[in-house]
Amino acid sequence: MGMNLVFMGPPGAGKGTQAERLHEDFGLPHIATGNMLRREVAEESELGKQARRYMDAGELVPDELIVEMITRRLGDGDAGDGFLLDGFPRTAQQAAALDEALERLERRLTAALLIEVSDEEVVRRLSGRRVCVKNPSHIYHVELDPPKHEGVCDQDGSRLVQREDDREATIRRRLEVYHAQTEPLVAHYDAAGLLRRFDGERSPEEVHTHLRATIATLRLEEDL
Ligand SMILES: [Zn+2]
Repeated sequence: MGMNLVFMGPPGAGKGTQAERLHEDFGLPHIATGNMLRREVAEESELGKQARRYMDAGELVPDELIVEMITRRLGDGDAGDGFLLDGFPRTAQQAAALDEALERLERRLTAALLIEVSDEEVVRRLSGRRVCVKNPSHIYHVELDPPKHEGVCDQDGSRLVQREDDREATIRRRLEVYHAQTEPLVAHYDAAGLLRRFDGERSPEEVHTHLRATIATLRLEEDL
């Protein structure tokens, strides 16, 4: 059966970091659908080319295409004992599509893990980010990880800027979309008895400890 998990949470909840740690703990592959789709497009795979047509037309890539991509990925050896799906589903409709796809694979979800962070905290975390103009991997935070000299990169002395995506108005718009889509999704998983909530305002270590304990318990229950 394996640990088939869906990972949910707002931008800035630290899902990527947590997924990396859970990968180390349990060997679960982190399937980030956004990255996967970008890779398919870059590699010009058959699926990537199809997705590209929608993107070029300014349309959303249809759910069926994403589900097909995930289904194929789940067939890879490393996902045989489970997976951590991140970025999909985002809507209740997508959740239903995923449920059907898993059923065809004779698998089912073990749990949906929701990392909760208040809007104010998301804004604080994201709007404080500053990125080096020369090397975007040089990232700072005005409160949490400030550079030695305000507005200047420690590593190469370049100017630090706030990205468009990290502006407060942009973050608040993303959060509105997130809440509108996620609430029905959360209700879907809650009704199915699959929802597990985590307090994402605690330190990354505490969140990780809680996640790890929950997954370990789920695994014991699966084995019974
Ligand atoms: Zn720099």
